[in-house]
This record gives sequence, structure tokens and C-alpha cells, in this order.
Amino acid sequence: MGKKILQWLGLERQSQYVKDYFFATNMRKSIYMSIIVIVLEIWMIIRMTNQWFSGALAGKPFSYYFENYYVYYFLLLSSGILMLVTALLYLKGKIKPHWFGIGVKWAFALICLYFGIKISVGDYMKGEQILTFLTMELFVVCLLIWRPLIGFLILTISYLIYVQKISGLAPVSGAYSVLKKLGELSPEEAYEGLQKVSQTTGLSLATQINLFTMWISTLMFCFSNYSQTMQQARKDEHLEEVNAYLSKISVIDELTGIHNMVFFRSEAEKLLGYVTTDKENIIFLYFDIENFKYYNEKYGFHAGNELLCNVAMLIDKAFEGSLVSRFSDDHFVVLTRYEGSRDIIQRISEELHSLQQEVHLELKCGAYRPTGEEKEIDPSVACDRARFACNSIKKHYEQTYQQYDKTLEDRLHLKQYIINNVDTAITNGYIKVFYQPVVSTEDSTIVGLEALARWQDPQYGLLPPGLFIDILEEHRQIHKLDQCVIEQVCKDFREAKEKHLPLAPVSLNFSRLDFELCDIVGILEKFAQQYGVPREYLDVEITESALTAQQTFLQSAMKELRKYGYKVWLDDFGSGYSSLNVLKDYQFDVLKIDMKFLSGFSNNEKTRPILQNIVDLTRQLNMISLTEGVETQEQFDFLAKIGCQRAQGYLFSKPVPIDQLREKITSGELSVNAKFEGLESFAE
Ligand code: C2E
Ligand code: MG
Ligand code: MG
Repeated sequence: MGKKILQWLGLERQSQYVKDYFFATNMRKSIYMSIIVIVLEIWMIIRMTNQWFSGALAGKPFSYYFENYYVYYFLLLSSGILMLVTALLYLKGKIKPHWFGIGVKWAFALICLYFGIKISVGDYMKGEQILTFLTMELFVVCLLIWRPLIGFLILTISYLIYVQKISGLAPVSGAYSVLKKLGELSPEEAYEGLQKVSQTTGLSLATQINLFTMWISTLMFCFSNYSQTMQQARKDEHLEEVNAYLSKISVIDELTGIHNMVFFRSEAEKLLGYVTTDKENIIFLYFDIENFKYYNEKYGFHAGNELLCNVAMLIDKAFEGSLVSRFSDDHFVVLTRYEGSRDIIQRISEELHSLQQEVHLELKCGAYRPTGEEKEIDPSVACDRARFACNSIKKHYEQTYQQYDKTLEDRLHLKQYIINNVDTAITNGYIKVFYQPVVSTEDSTIVGLEALARWQDPQYGLLPPGLFIDILEEHRQIHKLDQCVIEQVCKDFREAKEKHLPLAPVSLNFSRLDFELCDIVGILEKFAQQYGVPREYLDVEITESALTAQQTFLQSAMKELRKYGYKVWLDDFGSGYSSLNVLKDYQFDVLKIDMKFLSGFSNNEKTRPILQNIVDLTRQLNMISLTEGVETQEQFDFLAKIGCQRAQGYLFSKPVPIDQLREKITSGELSVNAKFEGLESFAE
């Protein structure tokens, strides 16, 4: 109820928007009135001056006219000009509605009312219409918008003053001009005379009713104006809020509350367009949280979202003052100064670890730094390059940062080329098998060959496996290559057999994914039978890293292989983190010691005892030991001394095509172990 009354009186709290809206409306409306006042007063000044010069106002000194007329004309004129200038400046946005603007509005309104009353008191006496008073009331109370209580007070007080002023007077129609003519009086003398003759005791009832009607209708106007303007102001305010909200959400990422890419692109474009931007000192960063997918799966979407919000806040805070946006999913982009950016990235990475310790989350950051030679930098292209750089270090354990450069671009092109062309390479015979001999440490004779894939590409030349194996694994295409290698190895074997050339078992490298993507054991069996290769002549190498995750299907596939009679080797032993576990969980025939153990052979004292222990362990577990990467005689002699049975490395031969290997054997450079002669006995 109280609220309603306050509302009705216009005393409710107004928002800043509504206050400004009212003020702007009043300023606009004041323009009309101030122009009318200015024109009117200029006209009055001209008229009075003209009368003065023509002698129509003879009899009184100029000071009399100045005090009684000019002062008022100038007061009105200057208040009109002040009002006009204030209103125009406000509408042009040059001033704000502070006390000065409000003061001018009030002053102008009161001056208008004062003169409205003053002029109409005279007009009333002369029996003229009191239109000036009415006009001023209409302007001040109806054209300008006041809160109802204030409007009521202004209106009522001015009416009371007016009534009080005229209540002792009665209109004497025509008396003024008669008095003026009679004794050739000046207008003032006639006016004074008029005041005398119009003295009366009170207002007539008709005048009272007329004035009351005027007061009440002006008041009604005042109220209805207020409520209409109020409604409009509220509607506009609401629209403005909706617009502000819409424009905000169009640039804000809904989940994290930081900016989105729409904002990033447009702001980055603006920033790059400024002449003052030092384009050589900026950098585009692209962030990715590695393992986030796993986190999401483990803890659910809700927790995942929470983590994303925290990471977004972390990056936003760390790069305060820079452009930070969410790119998509768990990816964020930043446009910032190059200087100091590495330290910030490092800090974020550390904070991410402390934020979440149960799942190992890795922060990956790719960066693109414009070269300075580019005429125009497209933010989308820059982000793409930073993303490329970021993707290139995915799964590269412990590497957080990678900057984009030309080599990276070439690598990425090659990567794309490999993915797109693996099928063609297989059908066109670009995939070649190179063989590297494995020798016995007893007599250096060949006891086996490792089949190593090469991609002989018409465009890129000879590509080593390091350039395509990981890519094919990442894109789950590796099984195609491995099947191709198996078939070629079997073909080479049949050819050698047919030509009665020396033979040796060949070890094939299998990817962990082969067991997932196809029935690799079945395929091996199929080719072995098709080309007549005895199972003892085909071994399977599985890398230690492939066996880190306990997968039952891998275990059973390996058992199956051994059951058929294939030997299973553990490749790259010692390169991963769970070497000994692998030995506990799986059964192998040969253990291939990773070549990194030999890398510090001559300068690291620990190398020898470690190798010695691995070889001892291998013997205890009933496996054959083989060390790869043997490059020097010294290494070979040491391996022979500690009882490592086999060795493989550049000391004997690099991986070479089958023809070259045969030449080496024919020339006597290499010889095959005697136990592999007389193949026919078991190959038939
Ligand atoms: P890996 O199976 O451990 O093969 C041994 C790698 O060591 C070969 O590299 C070989 O050239 C290199 N190597 C041999 N002796 C020496 C030496 O004395 N010094 C040095 N520095 N290196 C030596 P390559 O041929 O580049 O193969 C790299 C890896 O690619 C292989 O490592 C294997 O994991 C993978 N790979 C090769 N061919 C195939 C394949 O047909 N299928 C699959 N799934 N993987 C393959
Ligand atoms: Mg191998
Ligand atoms: Mg190896």
C-alpha cells in the first residue's frame, strides 16, 4: 500500500537509466520553449528600443525603463540562451545531468513561471486573457516532466501566488487605453491608474471556477505525462537491458564466462590493425588439456565442466590484460605479449597440476609468433598455426610448449600426406622391407633378420619408419602397413627358398594396435601358409610400451602366437616405465635390450653393470638376450663377455634391401649361421 502511494506520488526509487531518461526528455522539450523565449524577448527588446528612439516613451529617464523592462527582457533572454545551450550540449553528450544541468532546468522553469505570473497579473487587470500564465504553466508543468508531488507543488504554489496577486484586483476592460489617452499618460502611469480603479475586495466566483478548472486540468496533464513517460522509460530500460544481455552473451562463452571466439577474432583484428601495436612482440597461444577426456569419463560431465571453468579462470587471470578466449571444448586461445609469456605458461602448467592431482592432466601450449614480414595477420590463421604447434606435442610426455615454425609446417604437411596416401603406397609397392641382421655373439654369424619398413615415396624420397609409424598408429592405420610387411617378408622367404639362397628367421615388428584392429595372428598364419614359411622362421617383436596397459586380449593373442610356434620377442626393453612388470605379466622368448643402454657405454660407468644384470636376469627367466644398437667392436666384445647371446647394430650392417643383404652374404662380409642350412628338411 505504502509502495503504491509512493509510486502514485512519484517518490519511488528511480534507476539511473530512468533518471537519465527523464532528464533527456526535459532537455529536448526545453529546446522548444527556450527558442520561443529567446525569439520573444529579442522581439520585445527591439520593440521597446524602437519606441524609445521614436519618442513614444517620452517623459521617463532611460534608467526607469532599464529597471522596469530591459532587466527582465535580458534576464529572460539570457536564461533562454543558457537553457538552449545546456540542452544542446547535453544532447550532444558533452555534459552529464549533474547539478549544473538540473540547476539550469529549475532556474529556467522558475523564471518562466515568474514572468508568466507577472505578465498575466497585468493582463488580468486590463481585462485581457491570462494566456502567458497558462502558457508558462503548460510548459513548466506539462511539457517538462516532474515527479507528481513536485509537479503538484510547483503548480499549486504558482497558482496560489497568482491568485493572491490578482485577488485584490478586478479586470477593467478598456480602462487602460482610456486612461492612456485621457491625460496623455505614459503606459506606466496608466497602469498605476488602472491599479487604483481595479481595486476590489475579491475574485469573482466565475474567475475562481475558471482558475480551479485550469489548475486541475493542468495537474491532470502533469500526472498523465509523468506516468506515460515513466512507462516508456521502463520499456526502453528493459529493451536496453535485453540488448545489453544479448550483446554480452554473443561474446561470452556460456560455460566458462570468459570471452568466446567471436569476441577474440574481432578484438584481435582491431588490435592488429592499430599502428601502435608492436607486431613483432605479440604471440598467439593455443592451450589444450591433455587427458581431459579421461577426466571427463572418470568424474562425469559436471566435474569436467567445473574443471574447465577453473582452467579458464586460471588462464584468464594469468594473462590479465591480454585477449583470452575459449576456442572449443578444452581448448583456449590467448593473444598476448611475447615477452614473459613462457614464464606465465609454465606457471599455469604448475597450477593445473596442483588444481587436480588425481588424474594426471598435462597442459599443452602451441604458439604462433608472427614473423614481422607478414603484411596482414589473420587471427584465425594465427590460431590455427598455434593449434598445429600444440597438436604436434600431444602425447609427447613432459613437453609443454611448442612454437610454430616452417619445419613444423612441413612435418604437418607430411603427416597429412601419409594419412591420405597410405593405401596408395601399399598398392603401388612404395612400402619396402629392409633387413638388418642379428648376429650371434659366439661367432658373429647371422642368426636372424629384423624386417624394418621403409616408404619409398615418389615425392618425398625414402621415408624412415620414424616418420610414419606413429602417424599411422595415431590414425589407426598401422595394421595395413604391418600386413603388407608380413606378406613381403613371406614372399622374400619363398623366393630365397626357391633360389636356394641362405635363409634365416625374420622378426617382424607388430604394433599393439594390430591386435585391436585386425586378426593379426590369423593373417600371419594365412601368409605363412600361402608362401610356405615355417613358423620357426617368423618371430614377432612387440615393444615394451605396447604392453604397459594390462590388456587381456593382448595376453591371449601372445599366448596363441606361442602356441602356434611363433617366437615372441620383447622389443626396446628398458625404454619405458614398467619394464619389470612386463616381464612378470608376459612370457617372451627373446628380450631385446634397448639401444639407449649402449649410448653411454664409453663414458658412463653404470652402463656395464646394468647391462650385466639385465643379461643375467634374462638368463634366469629362460629368455635369449639380444642387444640392439651395437656400433663398436668394444661394445660387441663386452656383450659377448657378459653372456649376451645376440647382437644387432650398425657394426654388422644397417637395415638394407634384401638384394644388398644377399650381396653382403655372397661377398663373405656376413655369413649365415650353419644351423639354418638344410632348410628343406623342415620346410617341406
Ligand atoms: P626397432 O624395432 O627397435 O628397430 C630398431 C631400430 O634401430 C631401427 O630403426 C634400426 O635401423 C635402428 N638401429 C639398428 N641398429 C642401430 C645402430 O647400431 N645404431 C642406431 N643408431 N640405430 C640402429 P628404424 O628402422 O628407423 O625403425 C624404427 C622403429 O620403427 C623400429 O624400432 C620399430 O619400432 C618401428 N618399425 C619399423 N618397421 C616397422 C614395421 O614394419 N611395423 C611396425 N609396427 N613398426 C616398425
Ligand atoms: Mg624391432
Ligand atoms: Mg628396438
